[in-house]
Amino acid sequence: MTKLDCNVTGCVHNAENCCCKNTIVVEGNAAREKCDTCCGSYDEKKGNMFRNLFKTPENRLEVECEATNCVYNKERRCSAEHIGIVGGNATEAVQTECASFRAR
Ligand code: SF4
Ligand code: SF4
Repeated sequence: MTKLDCNVTGCVHNAENCCCKNTIVVEGNAAREKCDTCCGSYDEKKGNMFRNLFKTPENRLEVECEATNCVYNKERRCSAEHIGIVGGNATEAVQTECASFRAR
């Protein structure tokens, strides 16, 4: 399991710089650099509509990843110990990226 930090506060699944999902999918099957990747599990936070008071930040989670050009990609799973998803107050998935992408 990968330790994941995520600063995408515009995502409904974000809490305390972590993700509340058990699994995410990172997209970017033709990615050559980090900006070509994005978090496919991102969902836009719209006001307080989807606020779930019971969500728990997951420190470690399963990361499926389509960016097979990344050195950490092993059979479409992330093998890195620790990754960072960034994007701040993103309003769509394409504004996010895996900051830990490293081209082969
Ligand atoms: S952008 Fe992705 S990693 Fe970050 S909180 Fe949302 S679903 Fe989780
Ligand atoms: S570090 Fe590489 S393999 Fe892991 S999620 Fe990011 S792009 Fe995918």
